[in-house]
Amino acid sequence: MVRSHWLPAYIGVGSNLDSPQVQVESGMAAIAELPKTRMILRSSLYISKPLGPADQPDFINAVVATLTQLDPLKLLEYLQNIECRHGRERSEKWGPRTLDLDLLAVAGKVFNESHLTLPHPGIAERNFVLLPWQDVAPYFVVPKLGAVKDLAEKVSVKPEIRMIV
Ligand code: ADP
Ligand code: MG
Repeated sequence: MVRSHWLPAYIGVGSNLDSPQVQVESGMAAIAELPKTRMILRSSLYISKPLGPADQPDFINAVVATLTQLDPLKLLEYLQNIECRHGRERSEKWGPRTLDLDLLAVAGKVFNESHLTLPHPGIAERNFVLLPWQDVAPYFVVPKLGAVKDLAEKVSVKPEIRMIV
């Protein structure tokens, strides 16, 4: 039998609709229930101004650290399933959403497909990803990019953000 390894995988959780804090808490609880996956840590919750269209509510953001035996494509499928169960409708790019689950990185994995890009594109520019990520894994080396804490220090896009819990 080929045994699957447990790999660190990091998931970005965000919401700005329908009680965002409740959505984020419930999204994290759903991640904790995934098969072949263990939630190791969750970051503080942050509130940030939206990127893109400004006429929408502030976002609540968090990052979850897991260990998983799932293939990244399977993990993404489960995450999309959780988004759907939270009433996610895909519409405008960067528009409001009830729950956004982004697979940020999986240790040692690089994917360049449109339905799965790993590391997630854009993380190096986003403080609302890097600040919560730094809470749970400052020394994790993002494939191709470097350590989370170094990326957080150099981050270029800085919408207003603060920790709430
Ligand atoms: P965004 O989170 O960039 O605002 P969406 O959540 O609407 O946008 O984008 C979802 C699309 O991005 C999906 O079709 C999904 O297959 C694709 N995608 C590519 N790479 C990833 C990734 N690493 N994590 C989540 N979705 C991804
Ligand atoms: Mg997404």
